[in-house]
Amino acid sequence: MKNSLTLTSSTLALLVLACQPKTRTKVVEVPQKDKVYNFTKESYGEPVLVPVYDPACNSQRGLGLSNGIIEDAYMGIENLSVKTFIGEEVLDADTEKYINRQTYETEVIDPGRPVVLCRDASIIPANTQEGAAIAMKADVDQAFALYEAVKDPGTLVLPRLERVTLNAAQLEKQVTRVVNKSEEATEYTSHMTDNAIFMRGERPTLISFPQSEESKQAKLLGGVPLWNVDGVFQHEFGHFIFDSIMNDGNMPFVSYQKYAAQNPDLHLFHTPSSSLKRIVETPALKAGFQDFVRSQDFFVGSLNEGFADLWAYYTLKQPADMFNISCFAQNRNVAAGAFYNGVSKSWDETLWKKTFQTEIETDLAITAEDPVEECSQPIFSDIHIIGAAMAHTADAVFSAAAQTHSTMDTSRLKAEMSLVWLKSLKVSEEFQDLGGKASLSRILNTAVGTGISYLKGADKTRFCAVVSSKFPVLVKRWKDARTDNEDVSGVVSFCSL
Ligand SMILES: [Zn+2]
Repeated sequence: MKNSLTLTSSTLALLVLACQPKTRTKVVEVPQKDKVYNFTKESYGEPVLVPVYDPACNSQRGLGLSNGIIEDAYMGIENLSVKTFIGEEVLDADTEKYINRQTYETEVIDPGRPVVLCRDASIIPANTQEGAAIAMKADVDQAFALYEAVKDPGTLVLPRLERVTLNAAQLEKQVTRVVNKSEEATEYTSHMTDNAIFMRGERPTLISFPQSEESKQAKLLGGVPLWNVDGVFQHEFGHFIFDSIMNDGNMPFVSYQKYAAQNPDLHLFHTPSSSLKRIVETPALKAGFQDFVRSQDFFVGSLNEGFADLWAYYTLKQPADMFNISCFAQNRNVAAGAFYNGVSKSWDETLWKKTFQTEIETDLAITAEDPVEECSQPIFSDIHIIGAAMAHTADAVFSAAAQTHSTMDTSRLKAEMSLVWLKSLKVSEEFQDLGGKASLSRILNTAVGTGISYLKGADKTRFCAVVSSKFPVLVKRWKDARTDNEDVSGVVSFCSL
């Protein structure tokens, strides 16, 4: 039996939308202003191959993108990736649990071409592959500049980042094969669209995928390609920082290594609810997902997402309306104290219950007629959503600590704190033995501890009030003698809780 579906249902375009976000066209300017290229075709869906080797600019070829943190920039890459789940259980050596065997292969169908711009090109439309590459580069360089500015807080030495490759509007056909015990295979075919990824490996790569026609029509993600959304590639660069810190030195972060090995395509910027639906409807996929959700890996993954959101937020200097596009509004805005559905991002009883609910389906029962309404609902088995709560609450304590440093640039200081937070978690050797709840507790306790280390004797009243209001369930846990080892930062005694 063969099934074919795309990540974004084609029925979306037919529905009437309640929310119509503004579309905006971003024109990226490059230095020389002698000549304007008229790239008339739009590149939505299938990106247009723009004639960069236009004979007219032969003599002036060579303004590439390979300066700064970007090593190479490519466009027109086509991949076929095949993920096969084999319905036979094997014993996983690490966890000593039976898991479904799976294989993952990627075949390059077209290696693409380097992005090279004529020196006299003046304005490149944003909806071309070159436009995407230039926009990505600008955002990545900005996120890198912040890292360079704050990378060695105090005595803490953080890794020098190696250079990254950038793939603009990569076409990727994904085939998911689920093989049952009678060796019958069901294939699901989809194209990667409307997303951005950080891919770790020998050549760390930042990738953007094309915008789908469906998404454009239904005004999902604001109706604009993601490379034109501020914060997307600063977020992806945040994953690169996370990966570099967690793997740096002779003591890699074991929990992250394991997590990263099982999730080769780190990291989907956004998990569409439709792909989660497919997971829960397919037993082999669901089994693997259920092993992952609420485990330590899940919270390491959530931390990775939360940190990446924070990095985007600090790079953009704390905009009040970050990711103000449909499907992301409020949920992924670090400044917003509640999710789209009104659930608070503070670690209260409600959020704690949703974080540890056992049924994945509970989140997925939401099917609104309006696709924007549907994709806006937070799914608490999604690492981006739990990560968003981590980001908001960590930022709250960082802000309270930063207030005692009145002369400094706040977003820069908080970016520094977020690096200190990761580094302190990395060096806590016993982290790898913690279960899901204790892992989450430890991650948040270390964020508060980082804030404490920046108070440096200043009045702690306001800081401790923020701790009580943003982490009520955790405060209870930290006070509980049985879970005393989770309060490694001594938050309870510091704030006399
Ligand atoms: Zn991400």
